Amino acid sequence: MLFGCHPDGFAGQMPRSPEVTRYYLQCPPGDDPDSWSHERVWTQLRRRLAAAGAAPPAEGRLIEKRVLDMHDHVTEPMAFGRLFLAGDAAHLVAPIAAKGMNLALHDAFLLGDALVARLTRDDESGLAGYSRECLRRVWDYQEFSQWLSEVYHGAATGDPFRAGTALARLRRLFTSPVAAAAFAEQYLGTAARY
Ligand SMILES: Cc1cc2nc3c(=O)[nH]c(=O)nc-3n(C[C@H](O)[C@H](O)[C@H](O)COP(=O)(O)OP(=O)(O)OC[C@H]3O[C@@H](n4cnc5c(N)ncnc54)[C@H](O)[C@@H]3O)c2cc1C
Repeated sequence: MLFGCHPDGFAGQMPRSPEVTRYYLQCPPGDDPDSWSHERVWTQLRRRLAAAGAAPPAEGRLIEKRVLDMHDHVTEPMAFGRLFLAGDAAHLVAPIAAKGMNLALHDAFLLGDALVARLTRDDESGLAGYSRECLRRVWDYQEFSQWLSEVYHGAATGDPFRAGTALARLRRLFTSPVAAAAFAEQYLGTAARY
């Protein structure tokens, strides 16, 4: 994976296979995908992902273009009587830190276990604590996603203060092993609990 923090806007490369790659390019909210021609996409990718000594991205055919809204949303609590919400129905997290599906799966596993306990052992405790247990992780990932979003987009805000603090976060990641380890733990989601 490759991330470009650039004054023109963020760019990212997430290879899906040796032949197919998903690229991200920051654009104004509500922009029209048709205003991004083949030429414009590749010019901006080369510009934003350029690094000294690194080859430019290999140009290829664009097979799909979409403009995504960066929505963040939490419904709290995630239960009402016998209604239980899970996944994106309960919380949206912009695809910054790749957390949405992880959260959806976590909800589904907890809810599945809670339903089995209720139906086989008449144990209500899992369902009673379901929302609280899920939301703990939801808020943790929302906060991490916001933090990472500022790292990715700070340089392009046109605000020297936000650009400066975004760069400070990046420098810390690359110079402090403790900061790097904390980042890795949150990015991979390996922390037992926060
Ligand atoms: C571009 C992009 C990249 C992403 N990348 C990542 C990533 O790398 N890692 C990650 O963890 N997350 C990622 N996410 C987020 C992730 O895709 C979602 O958080 C996840 O799919 C949510 O799962 P879900 O089951 O709650 O909802 P969904 O996956 O949306 O599933 C809901 C399903 O319900 C169906 N449905 C809707 N209405 C009805 C109805 N009335 N009747 C019957 N069926 C219905 C829909 O068709 C859909 O199949 C990304 C999202 C986007 C948009």
